[in-house]
Amino acid sequence: MDERIEEESTEKVPLNFLERIIEDDLANGRVPDNTIVTRFPPEPNGYLHIGHIKSICLNFGLAQKYQGRCHLRFDDTNPEKEDMEYINSIKSDIRWLGFDWGKYEYHASDYYQQLYEIAVRLIQEGKAYVDSLSAEQLKEYRGTLTEPGKNSPDRDRSIEENLRLFEEMHQGKHPEGSYILRAKIDMASPNLNLRDPALYRIKFASHPRTGDTWCIYPMYDFTHPISDAIENITHSICTLEFEDHRPAYDWATDIDGIEHAPHQYEFARLNINYLVMSKRRLLNLVKLGIVDGWDDPRMPTISGIRRRGYSPESMKDFISRIGVAKVESVVDYSLMEFCVREDLNKRATRLMVVLDPLKLVIDNYPDDKVEYFEATDNPEDPSSKTHQIPFTKELYIEREDFMEDPPKKYHRLYPGNEVRLKYAYYITATSVVKDADGNVVEVHCTYDPESRGGAAPDGRKVKGTSHWVSATEGVTIEARLYDKLFQTEYPGKATGNYLDDLNPDSLKIVTDAKAEPEILNAKVGDYLQFVRNGYFCVDGKVSTKEKLIFNRTATLKDSWAKLKEKMGV
Ligand code: ATP
Ligand code: MG
Repeated sequence: MDERIEEESTEKVPLNFLERIIEDDLANGRVPDNTIVTRFPPEPNGYLHIGHIKSICLNFGLAQKYQGRCHLRFDDTNPEKEDMEYINSIKSDIRWLGFDWGKYEYHASDYYQQLYEIAVRLIQEGKAYVDSLSAEQLKEYRGTLTEPGKNSPDRDRSIEENLRLFEEMHQGKHPEGSYILRAKIDMASPNLNLRDPALYRIKFASHPRTGDTWCIYPMYDFTHPISDAIENITHSICTLEFEDHRPAYDWATDIDGIEHAPHQYEFARLNINYLVMSKRRLLNLVKLGIVDGWDDPRMPTISGIRRRGYSPESMKDFISRIGVAKVESVVDYSLMEFCVREDLNKRATRLMVVLDPLKLVIDNYPDDKVEYFEATDNPEDPSSKTHQIPFTKELYIEREDFMEDPPKKYHRLYPGNEVRLKYAYYITATSVVKDADGNVVEVHCTYDPESRGGAAPDGRKVKGTSHWVSATEGVTIEARLYDKLFQTEYPGKATGNYLDDLNPDSLKIVTDAKAEPEILNAKVGDYLQFVRNGYFCVDGKVSTKEKLIFNRTATLKDSWAKLKEKMGV
């Protein structure tokens, strides 16, 4: 035992490429105060999605590992698309994951005055100019990957005139699109982002934080590196699509007077098959009413998976399993579900709930008797509590657990066959009652009083075990069963429009599921397993006292579907 622990603790987990860079920087004295400072920089124009979890775990995780700190910075430079609702949701989602930015909450808009002063200085030094080219002309003058760009006729405007025009832009004297402020770098640069990138544009829009103070707003490539520098960020980590922007990042942090020079590092974004993870597309699903809001349990948003019943621990486990690399790849959806099941299996309270009820009457059981069986809340947890389940003459079982005329190898209930009712008794089906259309609506059976607890004293075995709920003591609940929102692995890839690939059966609502009364103790945030039917949670948003509504988080491993396939039924 001791030896094993010894072995585990000396085993080295390989470092990812960012950890190697950080350790090298620390070892070589390249980190001011030896304090690693990272930041998570969401744009508050939507809710966070599963892809962001990777970035959050990386930035906050590295800060934790190296005893540094991680800033939460709202990258709020697009006033029109941004909203306080998004800011609040982002904070609550990060906290749900278990990370804390402490007092280090920032907004790029906090730096508007500083950025403005830097821009003025650049103009004074002849390093920026006001351009009046139209959007179309700007594109034309920019050149292509194979052809250099052309200098704008405004590039040689005098410093005095540039200062005057920029001040007029600032004062709201010019309409949107009439002028931009550009850096004077190099129109022939092989990197398009260095061909005199825009620094400021005119926008008459109210900002959620600065209101109408500004009508010129700084661009991302100018704002982001300078915000990093102001906050003394040491390692600015972003996704690969910003690799081409790194020279612009370095240009900005190299501006005279900017003292701290952070570095940008890129990693591969998280992609998962069957999901769309762009805020624009997710917003579209919300706007078109295809889902019931950003927190619809089918949405790959943090608030969606949270309402669906995923645990933060399972998502962190998922992120740690996929690792950090510099090459784009697509992760299989089933790996994420696997992590969710692994975690919930360890912590979920087991309850008996019948989703598709079929009445079962035990003819030789006393009419008004109620007896109780004890069930362990979670057999995977040695310290688990127990609860009592009432048993009565009339019960419900799953419709699929009975067949009047079964195929071979069907071991569940059918006339003449004996099965176990979980925790309770052996029963044998005797007859059925049918409705006018010939559907079985009631199954009659007898029970063996000697088999109390679910085992017969003579040692005889049965092959099938059914879960059940008392028809008189149980409660009716609603269960919402989810499937993937998109039915193709790469939504929109073949059709050209991801909306064409929506799964029409992504939500099935069961309004009259029957549950053992213990379910009334379930609270929002509890992890539950409905025996054989999957992991569930209380939907705190739509449940009422009168009507409890549960979301299915994930199915259990579906052995029944496989069996059915084998039997050909
Ligand atoms: P989207 O492209 O999905 O709309 P975004 O990149 O515009 O998202 P931001 O709010 O700008 O969203 O992202 C905040 C941070 O999260 C950025 O550093 C970004 O690189 C990172 N991020 C966004 N999507 C992913 C992803 N799929 N995997 C890993 N990191 C991501
Ligand atoms: Mg973005």
